[in-house]
Amino acid sequence: MARPGERHDAPAQAETLAEAAAAARACAACAAHLPLGPRPVFRLDPAARLLIVGQAPGTRVHETGIPWNDASGDRLRAWLGLDRDRFYDAARIAIVPMGFCYPGTDARGGDRPPRPECAPLWHARLLRHLPALGLTLLVGSYAQRHYLAARRRASLGETVRAWRDYLPAYLPLPHPSWRNTAWLKRNPWFDCDLVPDLRARVGALLD
Ligand code: SF4
Repeated sequence: MARPGERHDAPAQAETLAEAAAAARACAACAAHLPLGPRPVFRLDPAARLLIVGQAPGTRVHETGIPWNDASGDRLRAWLGLDRDRFYDAARIAIVPMGFCYPGTDARGGDRPPRPECAPLWHARLLRHLPALGLTLLVGSYAQRHYLAARRRASLGETVRAWRDYLPAYLPLPHPSWRNTAWLKRNPWFDCDLVPDLRARVGALLD
């Protein structure tokens, strides 16, 4: 019998992380919807203590194959108090987006949402191999919808403001995109209260 969140057609428990990751890297399940084709971007290690669940790669991440390798990543690293070396230490920090491949842009030039097939196909299959996780950061509304489900508040802002309610397993964050700069200015508690708490938790987890 499958556990909550697991697909009934998930492979047998004997599958290793390397095998599951190789299968994900070869995935083309939604290739017809991807303007640049499949290029899954994620980082996983069984020793990881912190998991960052993001949205979907942008073009720069797609080109380099390095997650959060853009201005949003710079702001996320600043929130976490981590330089690039520590952020990209895969033995400590695992990174998965809700959609592993670049989804293209919409009519207004913004990035499309992560492909809806992706997280149900891959997250449980991959993340069951990460037994040492102490905290999962849910970055943006798609990650919060998937992992908090009915526990979310009425809006992303209210969900983030209630961050203490989801600890110690989860901590919801807004997406660090420039598009959220105005929201950050309107909500100074984020920098004053949440960010120091986040840095302390991450520091304690990674030390
Ligand atoms: S976005 Fe996910 S489901 Fe679609 S091809 Fe990439 S890995 Fe597969």
